[in-house]
Amino acid sequence: MRELKGTEVARSVFEDVRRRCREFVDKTAVSVHLAVVLVGSDGASQSYVASKGKACDEMGFVHTDIRLPDSTSEAELISVVEKLNSDSSVHGILVQIPLPKHISEHRIAETIAPDKDVDGLNPVNLGKLLLGQSCLVPCTPAGILEILSYYHIETKGTHAVVIGRSAIVGKPMASLLMNKRCDATVTVCHSKTKNLAQMTASADILVVAMGKPLCVTRDMVKPGAVVIDVGINRIPDSTKKRGYRIVGDVDYSAVADMCSAITPVPGGVGPMTIAMLMKNTLQACMTQYGEHNCR
Ligand code: NAD
Repeated sequence: MRELKGTEVARSVFEDVRRRCREFVDKTAVSVHLAVVLVGSDGASQSYVASKGKACDEMGFVHTDIRLPDSTSEAELISVVEKLNSDSSVHGILVQIPLPKHISEHRIAETIAPDKDVDGLNPVNLGKLLLGQSCLVPCTPAGILEILSYYHIETKGTHAVVIGRSAIVGKPMASLLMNKRCDATVTVCHSKTKNLAQMTASADILVVAMGKPLCVTRDMVKPGAVVIDVGINRIPDSTKKRGYRIVGDVDYSAVADMCSAITPVPGGVGPMTIAMLMKNTLQACMTQYGEHNCR
């Protein structure tokens, strides 16, 4: 069994982005600039935004963090995003989700200019992804493809099963796997799927993004399968000082020895999301400056 180390893959993406950013800045004197908007005071979101800022610093990007109170209205947030859309010094815009309940995440994703949409959630980018056209791709599924490619895992002709149909993970993942570059045959499962174990047991590649701790058990996995665990769940653990530990959606200890390859949690898909955000930001900036040689 090979452990697919996202931390190692992410490091190689960071190095590549840092190098290409330096070359781009030397050539154009343009500072690559990501704006991150955070509404409210959710602790997890604050720490995600802080790590994105740190990653920008490491890449040599400029970043602007805009913090807005919970009471911000949808109209006010739209107006902030529209200002960023028309600011030519800003190349990437990310609005941290989840947003407070009174703000529609779809409405905000629609407002972000498609060429600055580094989360890849604007309908134009999701539509292009479905059509197999070049676009900004949501960071987590893009990171999973990067892991598969780094470890030379063949997808062509395989049966890939994706559990989860969210716009940020499951749906774009399924599109990427069925598009020409991957050429997999894809089954998508969700909360209303019957006989889930029967579906997953036929998967050569199983991508799990359901947000349910340790739900994928040994009987659900085909011997020799490649298992990609996207889940990040906190479960109580009194042996830990903080009182919990992080686990995936897959019961790693029960499943690992029967897989040909598997991502751990933590240290698997998680580190890729931020690495791909950096890659998308550089791609967005270079495309805005007419450079199309970005991978
Ligand atoms: P979501 O809640 O939007 O979607 C979960 C999906 O799982 C839904 O489509 C639902 O139909 C499906 N599902 C739920 N219960 C099911 C069941 N019993 N059987 C079959 N399908 C079921 O979540 P999401 O945003 O797609 O995230 C999924 C998980 O991935 C979460 O744990 C989240 O924290 C994690 N995540 C990790 C990263 C990362 O960087 N590693 C990024 C995004 C999300």
